[in-house]
Amino acid sequence: MSQLFRHLPSVDIVLAELERDESLRCLPRPLVRDLINEFLDIKREEIRSGVVSEAGELALGVLLPRLAAFVRAKARPHFRRVLNVTGVVVHTNMGRSLLAREAVEAVSKACAHYSNLEFDLETGERGSRYSHVEKLLCDITGAEAALVVNNNAAAVFIMLETLAKGREVVVSRGQLVEIGGSFRIPDVMSKSGAILREVGATNRTHVHDYERAIGDNTAALMRVHTSNFRLIGFTKEVSLEEMRQLGDRYGLPVLEDLGSGSLFRFDGTGLINEPTVQEVVAQGADVVSFSGDKVLGGPQAGIIVGRREWIERIKRNPVNRALRIDKMTLAALEATLRLYLDMDKARESVPTLNMITMDYKTLRGRAGRLAKTLRAELGDAADIAIRKGVSRVGGGAFPEQDIATSLVAVNPKNISVRELKKRLLDTEPPLVGRIEDEGFCLDPRTLDPRENGLAAKALKQALGIA
Ligand SMILES: *Cc1c(COP(=O)(O)O)cnc(C)c1O
Repeated sequence: MSQLFRHLPSVDIVLAELERDESLRCLPRPLVRDLINEFLDIKREEIRSGVVSEAGELALGVLLPRLAAFVRAKARPHFRRVLNVTGVVVHTNMGRSLLAREAVEAVSKACAHYSNLEFDLETGERGSRYSHVEKLLCDITGAEAALVVNNNAAAVFIMLETLAKGREVVVSRGQLVEIGGSFRIPDVMSKSGAILREVGATNRTHVHDYERAIGDNTAALMRVHTSNFRLIGFTKEVSLEEMRQLGDRYGLPVLEDLGSGSLFRFDGTGLINEPTVQEVVAQGADVVSFSGDKVLGGPQAGIIVGRREWIERIKRNPVNRALRIDKMTLAALEATLRLYLDMDKARESVPTLNMITMDYKTLRGRAGRLAKTLRAELGDAADIAIRKGVSRVGGGAFPEQDIATSLVAVNPKNISVRELKKRLLDTEPPLVGRIEDEGFCLDPRTLDPRENGLAAKALKQALGIA
């Protein structure tokens, strides 16, 4: 056995060999050296345990390809591109919205060059970073004023902290939701210092429930979008118009956490339309908050629009400084919002809107082309079939609503679908899909047709025919 140890190549020899490979040469040398040591340690352990028992198994020519694969796999960045074929458009675990090309370019410019981020080009003096998007937000939503913070959780927090700290906010029991990722409305409220005044029953809340709860210490009435949860059956919620009237009668602001929020009306998609931000503003909500990266299709951000008197107070809150957005977000948001100045253009160019509104015929055509590519690349390693299925919007928008799609189902000949799904997490790039009716399904709604080749490559790797 001790003889075998001597057959292991030295780190320097292996390093020199690996550096002949273009893709490995650009990796940091100390990192590669550490990884070679790690690999050789594994080999030593294999010798000790008898897994490796012949010198031939340790020849440089035998070890090199595996060593290169080991180094390549371990040295790749941790944060990576993945192919999302789940059909969930706003997938929080996979980065929510993809940015429009215009937004990507704006981000790239904002990072590579100096900018007028907080510099007023008319006066040559200090300017406001929010000036780049406030007018756009007001023009699109019809609100008097706007500001943007880091995400919608921050938006809800700062709105309550500013307007209701130490005072009561009246909310319906049916809207005290947890949206996952540890965001719970009652918890955010208590952290902001606002006192939650729950009214109504879980399924039904009436105007008089709110009215009875109003007292000297009431700061606001609030509505919360129930996000990825839907109440059905014997239910009643108080409408925004009714809340507005109540607010007017008692001189209280009406706050609305729209969650996803949309600037776009999804007519003709089969989705039950929810009020857009524009509609909620027009119906008289005083302060409305929503996410930038859910259905809006922009960068992560929390957008707050509403009546000037309240928005100005939120802007002056010192906490605002801690929640402020950076220049990349600002660049992406402005570019995305500009697309919304023409709704048809937005539908085409904002990937999130484009994917949600993609019609069945287009999806069926894409599924056909994807299936063709896969059949050509995978040969007889798997059965490929096309079937009907459903996609989801995700991000808490349009909960429990299905949109018709066309799926490509892959059934491997030599491994189970479950094993295939697992192996696809370790391909280059990883491919995340779902198993449905005993098939591994790819939904073309969330896969750009230009990624078909990459999907085939991942499947080939997983099936061992790369
Ligand atoms: C998603 C959501 C939030 C949190 O928004 P983030 O942008 O993820 O911080 C808050 N409230 C509701 C109702 C939501 O759906």
